[in-house]
Amino acid sequence: MSDIWRHGCQFSSVLKACRKGWRTFSSAPASASGSQSSTLDKKAYSKSLLLPKTKLSLWSDPSKSEEPFRNKSCTELYRWQWENAEGPLFILHDGPPYANGHLHMAGHALNKIVKDVIIRYNVLIGNKVHYTPGWDCHGLPIENKVLGQLGKDQRQVDSKTIRDAAKAFAEQEVQRQRGEFSQLGIMADWSRDTTYRTMDHTYEMRQLQIFKSMVEAGLIYRHYRPVHYSPSSRSALAEAELSYKDDHVSHSVYVAFSLNLKAEGMRPMLRKLLHDKFEAHLLVWTTTPWTLTANMGVAVHPELKYSIINQKKTGRILIVGSERVYDLTDILGEVEEIGQVDGSELVDCVYHPLFSQVAKDISYPYTLKVLPSAHVTADSGTGLVHCAPAHGAEDYLLFRNLGLLTTDKSMLCHVDADGRFSGKVTEVLGESAAKALVGKEVLKDGGKAISEMLGDTGVLVKVQKIRHRYPYDWKTDRPIIMLRVLSHFFRRDLLATSQWFADLDSIKEDALKALDEVSFFPVISRRRLQSFVQTRSEWCISRQRVWGVPIPALYHIDTDTAVMDGASLTHILSVLDEKGTAHWWDGPVEDFVPPHLHKEGEDPAITYRKGTDTMDVWFDSGSSWSMLRDVVGDEAEKRGYYADVCVEGSDQHRGWFQSQLLTAVAATKVEGKAVRPYNHLITHGMVLDPVGKKMSKSVGNIISPMTVITGGKDKKKEPAYGADVLRLWAATVEYWNDVSLGSNVLAQCAESLRKIRNSARFILGNLEDGRALVELPRVKQEEMNLADRYVMHELCKVDKLAREAYPTYNFAKVVNVLSNFTNVTLSSLYFDITKDCLYADARDSAERRAILTVLEQVLRTMVSVMAPVVPHLAEEIHYTLSRGDDPSSGSSVFTKKWEPMPSEWEDPSAEKDMNHLLRVRTVVLNLLEKARSNKSIGSSLEADVELVLPEDAAEPLDLLRRGGDFLKTLFIVSDVSIIHEEPEDRASLSWTHEDSIELFGKLFCVHLKYLDIDLVILGHNLRVLVRPAKLEKCPRCWTFTRREKDKLCGRCSEVGEV
Ligand SMILES: [Zn+2]
Repeated sequence: MSDIWRHGCQFSSVLKACRKGWRTFSSAPASASGSQSSTLDKKAYSKSLLLPKTKLSLWSDPSKSEEPFRNKSCTELYRWQWENAEGPLFILHDGPPYANGHLHMAGHALNKIVKDVIIRYNVLIGNKVHYTPGWDCHGLPIENKVLGQLGKDQRQVDSKTIRDAAKAFAEQEVQRQRGEFSQLGIMADWSRDTTYRTMDHTYEMRQLQIFKSMVEAGLIYRHYRPVHYSPSSRSALAEAELSYKDDHVSHSVYVAFSLNLKAEGMRPMLRKLLHDKFEAHLLVWTTTPWTLTANMGVAVHPELKYSIINQKKTGRILIVGSERVYDLTDILGEVEEIGQVDGSELVDCVYHPLFSQVAKDISYPYTLKVLPSAHVTADSGTGLVHCAPAHGAEDYLLFRNLGLLTTDKSMLCHVDADGRFSGKVTEVLGESAAKALVGKEVLKDGGKAISEMLGDTGVLVKVQKIRHRYPYDWKTDRPIIMLRVLSHFFRRDLLATSQWFADLDSIKEDALKALDEVSFFPVISRRRLQSFVQTRSEWCISRQRVWGVPIPALYHIDTDTAVMDGASLTHILSVLDEKGTAHWWDGPVEDFVPPHLHKEGEDPAITYRKGTDTMDVWFDSGSSWSMLRDVVGDEAEKRGYYADVCVEGSDQHRGWFQSQLLTAVAATKVEGKAVRPYNHLITHGMVLDPVGKKMSKSVGNIISPMTVITGGKDKKKEPAYGADVLRLWAATVEYWNDVSLGSNVLAQCAESLRKIRNSARFILGNLEDGRALVELPRVKQEEMNLADRYVMHELCKVDKLAREAYPTYNFAKVVNVLSNFTNVTLSSLYFDITKDCLYADARDSAERRAILTVLEQVLRTMVSVMAPVVPHLAEEIHYTLSRGDDPSSGSSVFTKKWEPMPSEWEDPSAEKDMNHLLRVRTVVLNLLEKARSNKSIGSSLEADVELVLPEDAAEPLDLLRRGGDFLKTLFIVSDVSIIHEEPEDRASLSWTHEDSIELFGKLFCVHLKYLDIDLVILGHNLRVLVRPAKLEKCPRCWTFTRREKDKLCGRCSEVGEV
């Protein structure tokens, strides 16, 4: 196959052989048919050919080709650029992944690769890059993990043991992930000082300082408002930790509260309407029947109309919103309206407890009344709302505003920390009835039990199964409940306490204003973050967990008032700074009571207790922007932002993107600055399997990034692709959407990378790994032929497009333009047509030097373009070109600034001419393919081409004449002649193939009737003839260009080396 390697690569069937050709290239054109040369001569001739020589191997084994460059191109490079880069500062701020488990494809690999492409591009253009990888270390998953390892329930282990184990666990996970991240080829200094963990002392202290700033600004407060509570996590959740499901099924109930017709407070009009009735009921609808035991009121809108109706089939008198009557007949059947009153008439009516039938001997702790509330609507339900302040934010606010809650204990709440009915439900049900509920989960069998009880007591009007939007715990994917949360749920030795909140209403406007200045990629993601910020009015920042940063609140034991002010925090934080934040948990309370609270004769250790709440982990990671203050320094206000770019998955709009914004806006507002945490937000999607399913353990469709890099157990099924293939995949996909990954996609990426590698290898071979042009002068543009100028022009386009695509984060565009250039412009055209000259010309011929000049520039630009995406290959090429001895030493490709191609290489006229000629080339190649398949020729050099044009075809004739000798190079045939008439010897030829083409054609529309359109291209008709070569074969270069047998062609004899 050696002859195929040299010539005739235009045939698709032999392309594959060409690709493999290098290694198998034998130095003798032995199989050339019709050769009369002796074996000795053949060897001598082929020795005189300048065949490619390079150290870059054909196939790459990632463990050998990537590993040696890792340190140089990652840690050392990061340090080098930080010391040496002269360009402006560019900060990519790393959102900390959770320190738990092996790396995943989306959250870790895709995320870090996208970041790395961005920072490497910035290094290449000379910017000074700041990138400090971090880890999020506190929080529930790690706490649960260590509890699992300790084999115990949270309540059986002392907090210090949990915290110590959690710290050790997080540390170990950080080490593991660090090792895995570095295999992705991420440019960073992975040592301790240039990475961060949210459990680092300095980090925690910065976070506490932000908290203090917010306290001083009056943004932090404490109240008993019910919070979203996740029984499955046993913790309060922030809104950011909820995910809403639209198809949650609830068994809603319509229940009738019986009015106390004898009680005082009933307004005259209503009393008149009901004077002859024995009983009347308030009809209420709720989707959470389990909250009915905690009912403390029924709310109406004072300005809505309410109807008193008679349900025909039962004779029951019901009160419902007038606008709801029509819809409610679906539930109630036929009804008769007795009268109508304003909502205000209903206010202050007293009703009997719902469960009074089963709890006759219970004296109810409250008088149950109808209350006025503006939050009641006539849009759904009955127009009357069941109120359980412990389980609903609006109910809670209503009761608080009406002054009906004196302490948190005045709220009824019968649900425990596991989401089950607690023994407290006895208070309203009595002992015997309570037995049916206690211990049952409110969202499961507890809900069913209560419906049954409602039925038994005759207050149930209807059960209705509904599908509706319901909040779930984002992490456990289990439904949550609204709950008044007390700390003694968790630590029985503590007094009841409340939650800490950050006031977002006060900073919302500033936060939204800051977002207006931020740019988003993709653009559409702006709306997502905006709406999260817009719809949030407060942020519950306290968690009843152990593994976290403490909320350093002191409580006055007797009055249960919290000490939370700037002066006290200054003292407390100075103690924590000196002794570590763990001292909050482990140290004595008197260490923290500030001097100004010490009173004569009062022992602070008895007067105060330390709070046990930890901070929401989003507050932890959200504080990370504060690390950048030291980096940006005095420039902060001028810049207006800290990080240039943050890149995270779409779930971080509710998480880290938001918590950074809120803490930064709050804290910098206090300081009178307006510095936003970031200037540009990039969002990436999830990684799905090839059929678009989410990757999950249970489905078994997970692809681990480490397996892609180092291979699976069965290397045939899961080959070791190395980091560059994975990186190329990440850069090829539209990562800003959800993307698919499977074995086929990986194999395609490996193939694309191999093509790029092979193109580089061809160039390196001809440049003799950089030696070829050491002593030879390069060639100027005006001395180059059309193909050379055309390739340089195309290279300019690649360079320009890549320079436009990188700053807009569209890496797919870069990969696409690079692959296209490599496959089409280089492999299928330029490499094919230059081989003859490169191998057979004299080493210093002008034509050959021109090609080498082009190839050298092509390689340099290609390396710069590919380097951010596939740094290992770029380094390997750079190293081969610089002929280093040790891959780990010497300069990195990134230390050489990527300069734009000089504009003089742009050559639109070359592009125009070449496009015409490439159309002719396509016709020629098709005809040659015909000749080959008819076995008329083996190599295309056995053929000549005749181009027949009329004499008056000025434009094409001019073009073809300009082409001259270049045409046979372009077609890879032995001769091309331009004639005006039928060749004379045609009849005597053993074979010919012919076709024609319109050149310089213009599109004309000649006929449009009834849209029966005739479009005609009118141009100059060029006939293309392929025929046997007229001359004899040169034994050295195999072109059919000599007049006599057994003699070298003119060019070969001039080379003079044989
Ligand atoms: Zn020759």
